[in-house]
Amino acid sequence: MESRIQRVREAFASGRSRPLRFRLQQLEALRRMVQEREKDILGAIAADLCKSELNAYSQELITILGELDLVLENLPEWVTAKPAKKNLLTMLDEVYVQPEPLGVVLIIGAWNYPFVITMQPLIGAIAAGNAVIIKPSELCEKTAKVLAELLPQYLDQDLYVVINGGVQETTELLKQRFDHILYTGSTAVGKIIMEAAAKHLTPVTLELGGKSPCYVDRDCDLDVACRRIAWGKYMNCGQTCIAPDYVLCEPSLQNDIVQKIKETVKEFYGENIKESPDYERIINLRHFKRIQSLLEGQKIAFGGETDEATRYIAPTVLTDVDPQTKVMQEEIFGPILPIVPVRDADEAIKFINNREKPLAFYVFSRNDKVPVGWELTMANTVLTPFRISVPAY
Ligand code: NAD
Repeated sequence: MESRIQRVREAFASGRSRPLRFRLQQLEALRRMVQEREKDILGAIAADLCKSELNAYSQELITILGELDLVLENLPEWVTAKPAKKNLLTMLDEVYVQPEPLGVVLIIGAWNYPFVITMQPLIGAIAAGNAVIIKPSELCEKTAKVLAELLPQYLDQDLYVVINGGVQETTELLKQRFDHILYTGSTAVGKIIMEAAAKHLTPVTLELGGKSPCYVDRDCDLDVACRRIAWGKYMNCGQTCIAPDYVLCEPSLQNDIVQKIKETVKEFYGENIKESPDYERIINLRHFKRIQSLLEGQKIAFGGETDEATRYIAPTVLTDVDPQTKVMQEEIFGPILPIVPVRDADEAIKFINNREKPLAFYVFSRNDKVPVGWELTMANTVLTPFRISVPAY
């Protein structure tokens, strides 16, 4: 492991990843890879996640092609030195801010969108002139294999290297010194990554999880709200980092929400959801059992069917959920939507403020006073204080 990383470090030290022209060439090669090998990539994602190729394309490839267009268009401007204001210490100097590559960057990807989650940081790292070690998630074996096969055919083989493996290999990797680590995955593993990085004072970017709430206000377009919640919750079988995790609403809204989500689910996936090409499966048995256990003792308004052999869990809504129960203690990351009744927006605000920072937060209201002061933030932008203040009615 050490010698492989040493070779990447030497490639970075050669200086060839730095010139703008080289970076643009590599990014263009990456775009060619996505276009020319679309079938291989889609096939791997589809097989890993029981996903239709159309969904794999719209959820993963489109984002990457868009990101590449954005970076290719703007990189010449981004790499340019920008003049800076002079102060007492620099008044006699020529002062500017010049973006510089950091060195060798480690990317550790997660399985839920295995291509986009690994490739998006790679685009940024190449654009910034770094060398990169890419460690895709071992839970999406086929996508990890395709990345290891394709990337060396299109990119500089010494500067950008894929290392596949599981916990053991990642643990080994983390003993090495990197100049930055970009990690996407669970909060629990995020702590392991940060601890390992701290030993070398390596800066980290952690894209973690969280419980993202929805507040459905009495004064809202309930059809639109329920349609959007159902789409975000059940896409990829609930295995999306910013999926609506749970709903807070007044008790009188519960039945209508259940009914409308049920109708939307039927419209999206048909009568027989198991047969729908648009409905995915849970990634593995461990996660299947974890999610299944969250149903225990709950009031199931609809859904709740499970099939261990195919790791199928039906789109499910739970009502009158007790905030003390297990489903409200951890990120669900599956197709279960608990509804927790609250008296009003004030109680919803207190409820959210009393818990860990969410990754995203969705407010459905026609009343533009309701969202006042409800800050939407990412849980892992640790410097952003997340407090929701009581709206001024
Ligand atoms: P995962 O199991 O694939 O783990 C992620 C990576 O961590 C993998 O590459 C794996 O090899 C490595 N890893 C796992 N255990 C390790 C250990 N003990 N030591 C060192 N490395 C280890 O994915 P996951 O963690 O199940 O991912 C799902 C989580 O990711 C969810 O919480 C989700 O919300 C979050 N997520 C966040 C974002 C975001 O942008 N914020 C995006 C997608 C997913």
